[in-house]
Amino acid sequence: MARIGIDVGGTGIQVGVIDDHLKILSEASIPTCTNIPFSEQVERMAACAEAAVNQAGLTMRQIESIGAGLPGVANISTGEVIKCANMGWFHVPFRKEFLKHVDVPVFIENDANVAALAESVAGVSAGTSSSVFVTIGTGIGSGIILNGKIWNGFHGIGGELGHTIFALGGDPCPCGNHGCLERYCSATALIHMAREAVADHPDSEMMKMAGGDPSRIEARTVIDAARASDPLATEVYGKYIDQLAQALANIVNLLDPEVIVLGGGVSKAGHFLLDPLKREYVKYVLYNDQPMPDIKLAVLGSEAGIIGAAMLS
Ligand SMILES: [Zn+2]
Repeated sequence: MARIGIDVGGTGIQVGVIDDHLKILSEASIPTCTNIPFSEQVERMAACAEAAVNQAGLTMRQIESIGAGLPGVANISTGEVIKCANMGWFHVPFRKEFLKHVDVPVFIENDANVAALAESVAGVSAGTSSSVFVTIGTGIGSGIILNGKIWNGFHGIGGELGHTIFALGGDPCPCGNHGCLERYCSATALIHMAREAVADHPDSEMMKMAGGDPSRIEARTVIDAARASDPLATEVYGKYIDQLAQALANIVNLLDPEVIVLGGGVSKAGHFLLDPLKREYVKYVLYNDQPMPDIKLAVLGSEAGIIGAAMLS
């Protein structure tokens, strides 16, 4: 039997049909549209799923399940989306609405949890029973896999590493709290740190790489400048690595998973991220004379959203 995975993103919605071997048979996509009623958004998704099924040479009768991963929080037992700001969804009955169009079981989950599941089934953490996936992008997303299953908490609101408090009385976070971890460890944090640093060092190589305009500094600019041994970028990146290392050590001190998987834009730095992190995080782990979780880079990329969603049950 084949399964359908839907990756609901802020700009686009990707739908994929996968077979029993987790191979993607077909893919279809539609742009995210938020200025239409919820019922129409779901209708478009169902039509896109139908198109992907047809493209795979199958019919809906051959589909075992449909899963959707979205950037928000959902009640996985009722199929209600509690909050998905990107789509403008607050307390909407996603499963109930989708079932008006298909006669197939429908599941939903948070997108970072979905990616964590995908990596643990078909990616870099395959074969492990416990892993924590951390996606480092605009914010920090995270997904916990315990005994091969997503652990999103007893009430479904856990696994939010990005909003654990990292600095008492620290920077304000869009969530309303102060000092959240993602204000210190996301790509946004790295950019912010670099833009502050160049204000005092306008002659730095990093500033030149941004064409002399601090607002053009991206995470990649800092990483590229640090790679090129620009002293200012090296200092900023070193501080960022130290912060991220503390975040990962928090995971180990709390959960001690078999492996920690890093995804998202910043993880594209590859070993330039991984190697210093592995060195640094050890010193923040309490029992650091013992074997510790390996830190690895996610391998599935954009396919994780589809594969993980299709694996939901
Ligand atoms: Zn927050």
